[in-house]
Amino acid sequence: MERKKIDRNDIEAVIKGDKDITQFLEIHPGEGITSAFGVRTSSNPNYLLRAMYEMNERSLNRKLAVQMMRKLYRSVGMGATGLNMFLKKQGLELKPHEFLLLAFKLQHQQGWGAPFELVSQSDDKIVVKTKYTFESDVMKDWAMPVCGVHVGWMEGVLDAVTGKNWVGEEITCHAAGGDACEFVFTQRGVTWNERAEGIRKGERSLTEFLELKPLEGKITLIEEPVIMVPRMLFSSMMGSMSKIVGEAAAGGVINYRAYMELGTQNIAFFMKMGIKVPNTLIDMALAFYGQMGWFKVVKMDWNEAKKEKIITLDNSAEAESLGKNDKPSCHCTSGLLAGIVSSAFNVRVQGKEIKCKSKGDQYCEFSLTNKTE
Ligand SMILES: [Zn+2]
Ligand SMILES: [Zn+2]
Repeated sequence: MERKKIDRNDIEAVIKGDKDITQFLEIHPGEGITSAFGVRTSSNPNYLLRAMYEMNERSLNRKLAVQMMRKLYRSVGMGATGLNMFLKKQGLELKPHEFLLLAFKLQHQQGWGAPFELVSQSDDKIVVKTKYTFESDVMKDWAMPVCGVHVGWMEGVLDAVTGKNWVGEEITCHAAGGDACEFVFTQRGVTWNERAEGIRKGERSLTEFLELKPLEGKITLIEEPVIMVPRMLFSSMMGSMSKIVGEAAAGGVINYRAYMELGTQNIAFFMKMGIKVPNTLIDMALAFYGQMGWFKVVKMDWNEAKKEKIITLDNSAEAESLGKNDKPSCHCTSGLLAGIVSSAFNVRVQGKEIKCKSKGDQYCEFSLTNKTE
């Protein structure tokens, strides 16, 4: 099969608009090969894209699903290094915004939405817009900003051509009822804090920042090492320690103390990262442990008269691991919460579980009070 060669004149003609993608489309149905501008492609049906959004929605919510699409397409955008090298070989040196517009002119002409236009550009900020994107059309029924595909894709393209980190944001979206999809890209680094804050506020999910290298025996969460532990750890620990020191000491003393220390050190780590406000520290710790599978926070109440904080949790992994019991059994969780609250406020705190799923209550409920002695 003879392939058409693409050279500098072709690229310049595309940029100027004298030629378009149709002159560079090759379809060889007999061989099952289609290429566009020299790149192997295949039809990209709307139901594939919808399936990807909905797959993420199943384990997250819609807002977080859009972020997962952004993460995926960022990797797609990183592939732009190939086109960039090709242009350089042809003696074409495009500025980042020019490269971005060329790359998306080729995408737009292949069905990825309306043409893009440049709104403004400087060394560290590029603003572009389009009437609609492929995903804003396909996912229009979500009636919210949905263009994670383009945010991530463009971030990746800009990263690839500049070798620096770009952060994109969609500020208006056609799917949310806007008259265009407009994107702002800023060249800047992203700190640990920014990502952790995103998790705390529910704008990002922990899944985005989890990197699993199972074959190397390593897992990191926002670049910090973490481990995965089977939930039965709670029952196995309780079982072995009860045999040694008795059930009361194992649960109420050893487990409680050990996990209190874990909560304390976790808050110390957040503080080292620059998070200072006590309630923010608590919310962040609960958001992290929650998303790591420990529990789901139902609510947090503060009783001013009794100076008592009540934390209500659902899906306590500890209660579910230990099974039915006639008294509250989440000793590790009690300790963890006591450690978190006491170090966040720098006071001594007593944690006590007052309701527990393992004894038939709907939720596990923890009381945290100042410890006076
Ligand atoms: Zn949009
Ligand atoms: Zn419980």
